Amino acid sequence: IDWQEFDLNDVMSSAIRIIHGEAERRGITLKAAEPTAELRVRADKVHVQQVVLNLATNAMDAMLDVGSPRRTLTFATGLANEKAALCVTDTGNGIPEERLPRIFDPFYTTKQAGTGLGLSIARAIVETYGGTISASNRSEGGAIFRVVLPLARREE
Ligand code: ADP
Ligand code: MG
Repeated sequence: IDWQEFDLNDVMSSAIRIIHGEAERRGITLKAAEPTAELRVRADKVHVQQVVLNLATNAMDAMLDVGSPRRTLTFATGLANEKAALCVTDTGNGIPEERLPRIFDPFYTTKQAGTGLGLSIARAIVETYGGTISASNRSEGGAIFRVVLPLARREE
């Protein structure tokens, strides 16, 4: 592990930079909430980047069958109970309740050519750094994935 201290907001910005071309091709509008706080975390930045890109890829896949004016992928970050939080929200069809308990299982996929590994790897990475990852549905439709990581301890 290449330990680094970095701002989770930077991971959000680079994820947006990486996917914005693909999002445009797929008729998806990208939104990012303005960062409200510095979110210093300690982890391997490449790993955390991987988690966010996995969530963003899934979100884009989930919007294939909704009309393009309604395709929106939103990133948001913030402090939650003195931890760093990052949310990825889409306007797809959401995750059926009975599927929710299984989506983090290795090889669980509902896609023709899916590997079903993205979320299980994401969870393993986040847990390595003492964090959590969870999924839920928006009442308006679409899914929300939330990653929470401990803040780096301030050097005294
Ligand atoms: P894969 O993308 O290869 O299918 P993942 O582990 O990334 O594997 O995701 C597992 C499953 O979780 C997906 O096949 C899909 O059914 C469900 N899923 C993940 N993200 C979303 C999302 N944003 N909206 C709806 N379903 C989702
Ligand atoms: Mg995936």
